[in-house]
Formats: sequence, structure tokens, C-alpha cells
Amino acid sequence: MLKEHSMNGPYGGRVQTRFPPEPNGFLHIGHAKSITLNFGVADEFAGECRLRFDDTNPETEDARFVDAIQEDLRWLGIDPGEPAFASDYFGQLHAWAVDLIERGLAYVDDQDAETISKNRGGFTTPGTNSPWRDRSVEENLDLFARMKAAEFADGEKVLRAKIDMNHENMQMRDPVMYRIRNQHHFRTGDQWKIYPTYDWAHGQSDAIEGTTHSLCTLEFDSHRPLYDWYHEAIGLDTDHPRQTEFARLNLTHTVMSKRKLLELVEEGHVDGWDDARMPTLRGLRRRGHPPEAIRDFCGHIGIAKVNGVHEVELLESFVRTRHNRHALRRMAVLDPLEVVITNWPTDERGVGQSDIRTAINNPEDETAGTREVPFSGRLFIERDDFMIDPPKKFFRLAPGREVRLRAGYFITCDEVETGPDGEIIRLLCSYDPETAGGQAPDGRKVKATIHWVSAEHALDVDVALYERLFTDEHPGSGGDDPFASLNSQSREVRLAKAEPAVADIAPGEVVQFERLGYFARDLDDDPAADPTFFHRTVGLRDEWAKIQKRQS
Ligand code: ATP
Ligand code: MG
Repeated sequence: MLKEHSMNGPYGGRVQTRFPPEPNGFLHIGHAKSITLNFGVADEFAGECRLRFDDTNPETEDARFVDAIQEDLRWLGIDPGEPAFASDYFGQLHAWAVDLIERGLAYVDDQDAETISKNRGGFTTPGTNSPWRDRSVEENLDLFARMKAAEFADGEKVLRAKIDMNHENMQMRDPVMYRIRNQHHFRTGDQWKIYPTYDWAHGQSDAIEGTTHSLCTLEFDSHRPLYDWYHEAIGLDTDHPRQTEFARLNLTHTVMSKRKLLELVEEGHVDGWDDARMPTLRGLRRRGHPPEAIRDFCGHIGIAKVNGVHEVELLESFVRTRHNRHALRRMAVLDPLEVVITNWPTDERGVGQSDIRTAINNPEDETAGTREVPFSGRLFIERDDFMIDPPKKFFRLAPGREVRLRAGYFITCDEVETGPDGEIIRLLCSYDPETAGGQAPDGRKVKATIHWVSAEHALDVDVALYERLFTDEHPGSGGDDPFASLNSQSREVRLAKAEPAVADIAPGEVVQFERLGYFARDLDDDPAADPTFFHRTVGLRDEWAKIQKRQS
């Protein structure tokens, strides 16, 4: 439909879109959908997309969100340019409203919000005209001026468009254009005591800016006739902007609306808007989702005309694909089990020596090179890479069995030291010096390669492992309380042991800890110091492929 418009339709082939966030919270991945759509369409048709803050609700809006939203856009890879503000147009909107009053198309109503809502009627019942609907133009002009001059309290009066209280579309039953709010606005200060509603401000702001295509989510479908009515009423002498609706983006296992996200923050279920479990751009960033993967995902799901919910695993598969290509490989052990190499050489004082192994940084990218990994007589391996009494399909370390240490040597488990309750304390192993580099000269094979770190060289890092924030795929579906399925175990922090080269990872950078997944160094880590905290971005297994198999 956009294609048609821009080829042979109005606007002389020009395409101009806008992204209109309200500065009352942080952007989430649903906004990313709208951003990639609006900026993408503008790009595709050599047009322009403007960032416009829809700042018409002074009580919840704040300048800090204005800054944060621009920051998040830039992080996504979008240059939003100089932003516009609906509040820049308050003067023009007011002048148009006065004009509508003068032409008998708007009136001041004294009914309170509750009465107005009740008198709007329902889908099957007509509305009831307000007793104030037929005030004279003079009286309306006078009252509207006094509303503006702060002579009335909040809610005492509103300005309404005079359309049709029996209209089949409820939005057209004399919608409210202005309400009184004796509120300080973060940009216009105390200049205004009346504030335009979304419908009155949005379409007219679109018109002022020369927007051609106003893309919004499906729930505004019923507002479209009103959007057009206002443009007719103000007597635009150019082509009107057109509103087109598209489906909201929703993800499984989370909530998306700002109101619900705020609730998560305020009730302390997460650490903040930028908690790594939040679907906010800040949360996804902290978690280690690359902006390119978010854009790939939004592009892949495309635009739909029906609201749906996308699997979070699909998003994660885009994240995994990116990191697989670009992330450096490192070794870390999340649940350390000590291994002593009994035949490791010691010097004349009996002190263990260390040896430097070379490991490949990224098998997907030769230019990433190699790194040095110290090996010594005391190592940590992952506790679950060992079993005393392994079942048939377990090929990793077990008593008497030989495995390969990644980029190290073959080791054989000779003895298991256990504590009083049978718990495993350490393994005594021997290594084969001939297997440096991972091959045995006699060609003998091992069935498993495991990761490890040298105990004396290891860095201590905290690692956060995540489960879904909501156990329900569709929290709140069927009218349930979405918070009923909040997962109290959604984060587990472990003290892990990491190889020394992990110190080179910058805050925000993502690495693959071999066999464990992709991990992002925390953004708030001191860049000059050793890392202290990592978030597991995603595991290595492609859960999306699994889901698709199940569905086919
Ligand atoms: P929320 O319900 O999360 O508060 P909102 O629509 O009130 O969202 P705005 O800041 O008003 O948030 O939205 C800015 C733009 O982003 C709007 O054009 C809106 O349609 C779009 N948008 C918001 N949420 C989504 C979503 N989940 N999917 C696609 N677009 C969205
Ligand atoms: Mg909104």
C-alpha cells in the first residue's frame, strides 16, 4: 500500500514518516519494531523519518526519558537527527481549536469524565448529547479562554469536537480535544493549563511536519476516521497524512507495555529498567543483545495486520548467529571441580611449573587470531563433566577414562578424592605430555573435549545465569494476572573461574565461554579493572530450531 502511494499517489511521490514516542519511559523491543519500520520505510523510498516526542501528558513525562530515548535510538544504529516535540505545536493546536469553536465544530463541556464516558453510549446504544453541547460560540470562546487562564480546576471542563453522538464509531462521539491539567510541563513549564489529547495532537503534529504516512499500531484503527475528520476540519490545503496500522510486536515469556514494565521495576521484581531480564533496549543491551540482531529480528518478522506473539527463542537465534560470527572464545568454569595433575613437572623446590598453551579466538573468523592460555598442575573443570559412575551415553571424564582438555592435553582420571559424605573433593589425574595440541602421536582417540582453567591463574568473576522472567509463554493471557507467573528463580549468580585472557574483554563486550554460551561483561564494570560480572546472553543450543521441529 505504501508502494502504491509513493509511486502514483498523493504527496508527489514523497515519503515522510515519524517515530512518536511518549517520553514517559524507556524504549522496549516493541518500539524497535516501530523504529525499524518507520526509519526503514523512509530509507527505502529515499524519504525522511522524524523523531517526535508526543509530550502531551505532563504528569508522567520527563526530560530524562527524552535523553534516554535518543541514546537508545543511537545505540540501535539510528541517527534520529534533531527531535521535534508535540509541545512545540501547542500554540498552533490552540489556534486551530479556537478556529473550530468559531465555526461551531467544538464546544466546552462541563460534564465530568465519568459522565462523559457514561453518555458516550455503547456499541449498540447511541450516545446522549451533553446539556452544554449547544452553547453559543461566544460562550465557548470565553470559557475556553478561561480554561487556558487557569480559572478552573482539573476536570471541571473539557473542550470537545462537535461531531455526532450517534456515530457508529465511538471515537467520533464528540471526542475530547483538551483537558485541564494544572501541571508543570518539562518543556513548556507553567505556560499551559490545558493539554491536547492524543488524537487532537497527533494527527495535527503529523500535518504540521508534512508527514505522509503515519504508521501506528492496530488499536488505533478505530481512530482513523477521527484522524481524517480533524484534518478536514482544520482545512488543510495540502494532501492529508494517512494513518496506516500495523501489528504490535509481542514476545513470549514477557510483558511489554510500559505500565507493566514500570510495575516490575517499582515492585522490585527486577533491578531497574535496564535489568538484563527486561525487554527494554537497555535491558537487552546489558544482556548482550547486539543492536544488529534486534534489527535483523524486526526485519525478519516483517509487518503484519494481525496482532501476534513472537517466540523469544527466535530473537535469541538472531543474537546467537551474530555472536557466533563475532564473539571471541574464552574458557570459564561455572561450577569448579579441582583436578590435580599428579605427573605435572615441578622444579627442584617442588613448585609446580606452568606452561603456555595457544588457543584459537574464533573458529568462525581467522583474523581474530589466537591467545595464550596458561596450563598448570592444578586445574578446574566443570563439576558436571565428571561422573563417578557414568551412564552409557556419558562420554566425558570418569574414573579410568581419558578426555581431551580443549587446547591442552589428554588427561586420565586415576583417582577420586571424596569427603565423609561421599562428595567429590578433587580428581587426581595424569596427563600425557605427547598430546600437547590435542592429538595423540599413536592416533588413539578420546570421545570428549572439555574446557578448563588453571587454578592459580584463574580470575574470579560473578556470572548471572537467566531463566525466563515469566514462566508462562503468554503471561496474563485469558485475563489472568500476568504477574502470577513471575519466575522467582529467573536469575542465579555464580562465582566462576575464568582464564586470564577474560581480562581483555571490555564492558558491554560479549564472549563465548566455550560450551556454556555467550556472556556479556557488565556495562557498569570498571573498564580499567579486571571483569567482575558477566551476564549469560543466550546458551549455545538453538532452541528456535527445536521449536520449529516440534511445530512441523
Ligand atoms: P506502551 O503501551 O508500551 O506504553 P506506547 O504505544 O504507549 O507503548 P509510545 O511511546 O506512545 O508507547 O509509542 C511510540 C511508538 O511506538 C508508537 O508509534 C507506538 O505505536 C509504537 N509501539 C509501541 N509499542 C509497540 C509494540 N509493542 N510494537 C510495535 N510498535 C509499538
Ligand atoms: Mg502511548
